[in-house]
Amino acid sequence: TSGGKEGDVVKVGVDTTYPPFEFEEKGEQKGIDIELIKAIAKDQGFKIEIEPMDFKGIIPALQTGELDVAIAGMSITDERKKVVDFSKPYFDAGLTLVVAKDNGTIQSPDDLKGKKIAVKKGTTGAKFAQDLAKENGADVVQFNDSPSMFQEVSNGNADVLIEDYPVVAYAIAQKDLGLKIVGDRLNGDQYGIAVQKGENEELLKKINKGLAELKKNGEYDKIVNKYLGE
Ligand code: GLN
Repeated sequence: TSGGKEGDVVKVGVDTTYPPFEFEEKGEQKGIDIELIKAIAKDQGFKIEIEPMDFKGIIPALQTGELDVAIAGMSITDERKKVVDFSKPYFDAGLTLVVAKDNGTIQSPDDLKGKKIAVKKGTTGAKFAQDLAKENGADVVQFNDSPSMFQEVSNGNADVLIEDYPVVAYAIAQKDLGLKIVGDRLNGDQYGIAVQKGENEELLKKINKGLAELKKNGEYDKIVNKYLGE
C-alpha cells in the first residue's frame, strides 16, 4: 500500500453517490469529501486517485489494501476502529428518521415496531435499524445506495428510512422527494477519514496535519460553506 510517499498514488475510496459529500456532476467528482481530500493531498504533497464504490465495499477494500484511504461520510465507531484507523473527526452528522410527507404516525424509534425500515448496507443507519428490529421487531430492507433507499419510502414500499441528517436535509432542499425528517437526531455520529489499520501511520499523520491546516487557514470552512451555506 501507499504511505503517501513522493510519487506514490494514494487510492481514495468514496461512496458512489452521497451528496453533498460526494457526487458526480457533468462527469466531474464533486462534494465536501472530494474537495477536502484533494486539498489535504495538495497541502501535504501526495497524489490521489478517487475510486467511487458501494459503501459496504469500502472497509473491506481498506482491509485488503485495495484502498489506502476512505472519505465517504464515514462515521467513526468503536466497531470500525477495530479494523481501520481514523483521522480526527472532520464533520458532525448524526442519524435521523425520514418518512413520507403525509406520514403522521412515526415520530421516534418507539414508533417503528412492525414497520418496514429502509437502510443502506454497511452503514451505521443499518446497524441502528437492525438493533431496533432485534429488540422490537421490524422489517429491515437493505439497499446499495442512498437514492434507492430514498425511493423506497417515496413510493410507499417502506415506512421509514434511516440516514445521516446532513445528507437527507441536503437532498430534500435540492428536490421535492415527498419525504420529511422527523424527530430528534438519533445519535451524534461524527465523520472521520479512514486508512488501512496499522499500515498507514505516516499517511494518517499527513491527513491529520492537512486537516488541521485547512481548518486554520479557512479552506475547510470555504469548502463546507460552498455546499451547505453559512
Ligand atoms: N455515516 C454513515 C456510516 O458511516 C453512512 C455513510 C454513507 O452512507 N456513506 O455508516
